[in-house]
Amino acid sequence: MSYDDNNIFAKILRGEIPAHKIYEDARSFAFMDIMPIAEGHSLVIPKCPAADLLSLDADYAAATIQTVQKIARAAKRAFDAPGVFVGQLNGEAAGQTVFHIHFHVIPRDGKSAPFAFHGRKEAASEILSAHAAKIAAALE
Ligand code: 5GP
Repeated sequence: MSYDDNNIFAKILRGEIPAHKIYEDARSFAFMDIMPIAEGHSLVIPKCPAADLLSLDADYAAATIQTVQKIARAAKRAFDAPGVFVGQLNGEAAGQTVFHIHFHVIPRDGKSAPFAFHGRKEAASEILSAHAAKIAAALE
């Protein structure tokens, strides 16, 4: 899939628009999803241009999945969640809406609303900040 440099996550990586950062290293970046489907819903992206998993460089894929694991562990601890969902979509036909590869990391308590992939309501900035800090504090 071709890559558009003006997608929203490319802008976040370039610092052109704000995000609630949880963690970053040389190859990956983790931040809060602006429309969470549950408390602690975050996104992990590679710091390279790739629209989907299929076109992602293997070294960046390896680095990104290691960050996904790190964030999933931290989110589970931070929200005292018995489970954590990790997933990603490839292509419009699969439901992808932002065309910079990203993994969703979502703490799940098994009790709240049935699983939906996308949120409908933007969360308050101060809540996202607090949740980013909470997950960051739970990193090992
Ligand atoms: P997709 O449908 O591509 O798997 O998921 C895109 C995700 O990006 C959605 O969950 C949506 O809430 C999130 N999102 C869209 N725009 C922004 C934004 O400007 N900032 C952040 N942090 N998340 C966004």
